[in-house]
Amino acid sequence: MKHTVTFIPGDGIGPEVANAARRCIDATGVDIQWEEVICGEAAIKDYGTPLPEAALESIRKNKVAIKGPITTPVGSGFRSVNVGIRQALDLYACLRPAKYYEGAHTRYRDVDLVIVRENTEDLYAGIEFEEGDTETKKLIDEINAHSQRKILPDSGISIKPISITASRRIARFAFDYALANNRKKVTCVHKANIMKYSDGLFLSCARQVAKEYEGKVEFNDAIVDNLSMQLVKAPENFDVLVLPNLYGDIISDLCAGLIGGLGIAPGANIGDKIAVFEPVHGSAPKYRGQNKVNPTATILSGALMLKHLGEYDAAIRLENAVSKVIKEARFVTYDFRPAGAPVGTKEMAEAVINNLK
Ligand code: NAD
Repeated sequence: MKHTVTFIPGDGIGPEVANAARRCIDATGVDIQWEEVICGEAAIKDYGTPLPEAALESIRKNKVAIKGPITTPVGSGFRSVNVGIRQALDLYACLRPAKYYEGAHTRYRDVDLVIVRENTEDLYAGIEFEEGDTETKKLIDEINAHSQRKILPDSGISIKPISITASRRIARFAFDYALANNRKKVTCVHKANIMKYSDGLFLSCARQVAKEYEGKVEFNDAIVDNLSMQLVKAPENFDVLVLPNLYGDIISDLCAGLIGGLGIAPGANIGDKIAVFEPVHGSAPKYRGQNKVNPTATILSGALMLKHLGEYDAAIRLENAVSKVIKEARFVTYDFRPAGAPVGTKEMAEAVINNLK
C-alpha cells in the first residue's frame, strides 16, 4: 500500500538525521511518497513564521509526519514550533520508548520502558504573564485577594493547568498502549503531595481509569523525585510511565541517558487521527552540517512510524538492522564509543541500509 507522509527536515542537525532516516525507511521497500515542507528557521525567511499554515495543512491532510528537531530561538518572541505543532494538531500523547540495545554505551542493561507524556497542558500550555506587565500586576492582585499565600509584586507567572479531560485521556492512552503491546504495569508519575489540585487531579484521574483495566494491567504511582532515584537505581522495575507534560520532558532525557544518550531515543506525538514522529533530542546547533551526530533516534522514530502505518514487517526489519549496527559497533557515531574511529551520520545510516538487504 502506498502512503503519503509529510517530511519536515528541521533545524541544526535536523536535516542530516531526518534525511538519514528517510533513506533507511525507503530502503525497507515500503512505498512512501514524501511531501516535504519547511518549519523553523528556514520558514521564518520565507513565511515570516517558523510554523507556516502550509506545513500544518500538509500534516492534517496526510495524517502522518516525520520531523527533524526544530530550534526554539531564545528571546525572539517565537514560541516553540515543536510545542506549537503538538497543540495545533491536538497530538495529546507523546510516546517515547527507552530500550537498551546490545552494544549501546551505557552502564545499564535491563531497560525496556515506555514514557507516555501528556502533551497539551501543564506548564507547557504557554500561558505566561511577564514580570512588570499591567495584566500581570492585575492577576497578582486578584490572586492575592483570594489566597493566604501572597505572590510578590515583582513576580513573573507561568500557569499550570491540568484538566480531568486531558488527564483521563492520557491515562486511557497509557493503559490501551500497555494492553496492545503486552506491557504489564502503568506507573502514574506526579508531585501530588505538593500540587494537590493539579498533580493531585492527574493522579486521581489515573486511579479512576486504572479501575477499568483491573485484572489486565497493574497500576501504581510514584512521586517524580523519588521516581528519578528509582530509575537510576533499578530501571528494570518500570514498564509504562504516564506523566504530566513537564515531568515527561525531564524524565524522557533521564531515560535517554539510561540507554546510552539522546542519539538513540525515539519518539512520537499521537492524537486521535494524526501522528508526528521525531527524536527526543533537539537540533544540537553546534554539530550542524558536520555529518557527526547519531541518526539512530530518528531512524527508530521511523520504525515507530512504520508500525503506525501498519507496516509491521518493515518496522521490525528496520529496528533489527539498527540493532545489528549498534551491536557490531563498527559503523557507529562518536557517542557510541566505537572500537575504531567513529563514522558520520550518513555512513551509520548506510550501515543500517546494508543490514536491511
Ligand atoms: P539537544 O538535544 O539539541 O542537544 C544536547 C546535546 O545532546 C548535544 O550537544 C549533543 O551532545 C547531544 N545530542 C543531541 N542529539 C544528538 C544526536 N543525534 N547524536 C549525538 N548526540 C546528540 O538539546 P539543546 O542543546 O538543549 O537544544 C538545542 C535546540 O533544540 C533548542 O533550540 C531547543 O529548544 C531545541 N529542541 C527541539 C526539540 C524538538 O524539536 N522536538 C527537542 C528538544 C530541544
